[in-house]
Order: sequence, then C-alpha cells, then structure tokens
Amino acid sequence: MNWLTNFVRPKLKGLVQKKDIPDNLWEKCPSCSQMIFHRELDDNMRVCQHCGHHMRLSAKKRLDMFFDEGKYQIIELPPTVADPLKFKDRRKYTERLKEARGSSDDVKDGILVAHGKMGGNNVVAAVFQFSFMAGSMGVAVGEAIVAAARLAVVQDAALVMVPASGGARMQEGILSLMQMARTTVAVEEVRDAGLPYIVVLSDPTTGGVSASFAMLGDIAIAEPGALIGFAGARVIEQTIRETLPEGFQRAEYLLEHGMIDMVTPRNELRDTLVRIISLLRNPKPAGDLVPLSVEEVAEETIDVTSEAITDETGEEPSGDSKE
Ligand SMILES: [Zn+2]
Repeated sequence: MNWLTNFVRPKLKGLVQKKDIPDNLWEKCPSCSQMIFHRELDDNMRVCQHCGHHMRLSAKKRLDMFFDEGKYQIIELPPTVADPLKFKDRRKYTERLKEARGSSDDVKDGILVAHGKMGGNNVVAAVFQFSFMAGSMGVAVGEAIVAAARLAVVQDAALVMVPASGGARMQEGILSLMQMARTTVAVEEVRDAGLPYIVVLSDPTTGGVSASFAMLGDIAIAEPGALIGFAGARVIEQTIRETLPEGFQRAEYLLEHGMIDMVTPRNELRDTLVRIISLLRNPKPAGDLVPLSVEEVAEETIDVTSEAITDETGEEPSGDSKE
C-alpha cells in the first residue's frame, strides 16, 4: 500500500496533471477586440499594434520607460495611518488594502515616487497605479505627492506626475478630500521654486484628482484616448438633460477645447518630456552663438535703420509726427 500511495500515485499524477501554464499569455484589446500576445504588447509599451489603443500601464513600467537608461530610485513614502476612519462597507477597508497590496513590495498604495535623470536633467516622478483601488487618492497618496513636490524642490528637479485615478478614496471620507487642497499647495511650492511641473494625463484622470493637482501642470500632456474629466458622462447627461458630443472627456476633445497642451502617443512620450524639460531647465540658444565681424554688424545696423525710416509710408519722416 505504501509503495502504491507514496510512489506509484505521485508518478501517475505527474503524468496526468497539466503543467502550470499561465492563462494570461494573450490579452484582448478593449478597443478592437484583437488578441495580442503578452510579450508583443509589452514590447509595444502596452499599445495595441492593430488600432493604437493605449492600455493602462503599471507605475513600475512607466518609470522604467521614463528615465535615462531605465535607472531611477524609488523613494520610501512617509508612513500614514492605514485606516483612519475604521471604515467598513461590505468588507473592511483594511482587507481591501491588504488585497490590493498583494505580494507586491513596490506598491504600498496607489502611487510610486522616484527620482533620476531625464536627458541629464534632475527629475522627480510621481506615478499612479490604477490597479491599486482604482488609483484613488487617500491620505497615503496625498502624502506621497507632497513628498514628491518637496523632493523636487530639494533636488532642484522638474516634477513629472502621471495620474491614473478614479478620484478620491471614499473609504477615507473627508480626509481624502483634504488631499485635493494639500496636493494643490504642494505643486504650488514647486512653482514658487521656479521648477517645471509637468502632468501626463493618462487613462483615466477623473474626480478629485482631475479637480486638483492634475489640471495644474505648467504643461499638460495627455495620452491618446485618455478619459479626463470630473464627473462621469452619464451623470452630466442626466443633470443637464442633453446628449453629450462624441469624444466628450477624451484627450483629443480636451486638446481641441484648449484644456490641455498636447496629446502625445506613448512611444513619443519620453522624448517629448526630455525635450520640454531640457528647454525649460536650460533656457539657452540651442546652437552656438557666432559673433559677427565689426563690418557686418555696422552693415546690419544701417540696413535696419534705413528700413525703419522708409517703413510704411516709404517716405522719410518729416520731424514731429504729431502735427
Ligand atoms: Zn486594438
């Protein structure tokens, strides 16, 4: 019996049992429904190669893609009270938090803050993790944004924020709403220090996040097709009793209406950020200044003055023009 149970049965089981094949090798594009192999999707920065749909990206992957040579340092975020209101709906908030954290050590809450270089410039980046309770902003996220802003000031760095959030974290009630004011003051500190604050609005940027720091960037960039707005479209439709235009609350619509500065595809995002930060941090002419010779300068001056004199009327000015 022992021989049968200890030796034969495991052997047979081994033959019959399927090997562990991860079932998420293929992902379906939510826009065009094409099945895409996971490695292809990763290589393409999670942008569908069939229709160009930009899928959500984890905070870690976004940081990997931002910094020079993928090198950066994730900072430890200030500790906060985990469940200040002892909140419970169908489940305890602490349980939800635990589940969201899972086995990941990187993401303690819905945001990661890192510092490094972009195009050789100091940059602090705060990136939301949408998969963590819909990237909602509670005390911990607010605290992280304040920490990121202060770090940018200390390091004389540009601040780049990438929100991906459903808004305030309702399990923290009024305390989560207070983060709207705190984060607004935090980015104001960056502005006071004369440092650039750039926001990359990713899908989705909604609720209290869009109503605070997310719409305050010196430069507002959005990813194609990103949902950006305060209240949901259905709520607005019911309130104003009107059908909303097509593409309402999407990045391209906001660009058309002057709410953001540009819509940038993900594969051009890093280069765009590097260009903007370099321009803002090093306001020098891009090329070398070539001094003109003395004669050339003299000629230029004469040309300009004679042009100015004969300008418009084509006649020489006759003394006082007030007459
Ligand atoms: Zn697609």
